Amino acid sequence: MPGSILGEAGGLFGGAVTRKTATRLDCPSCGSAHVAQVLGDNGGISYVCTACGHSWS
Ligand SMILES: [Zn+2]
Repeated sequence: MPGSILGEAGGLFGGAVTRKTATRLDCPSCGSAHVAQVLGDNGGISYVCTACGHSWS
């Protein structure tokens, strides 16, 4: 059933950590939208690209 397949895919993506932490930012290094917000050492917000590993703030 196509409906059940779509439902399972939606559940998988919805439960993924990357989906929850992803932002609308693009990585300045590789241009990927797979960017996660992380807390910096000074309590600030930094960003890390989950595609290439580039991090910035
Ligand atoms: Zn990147």
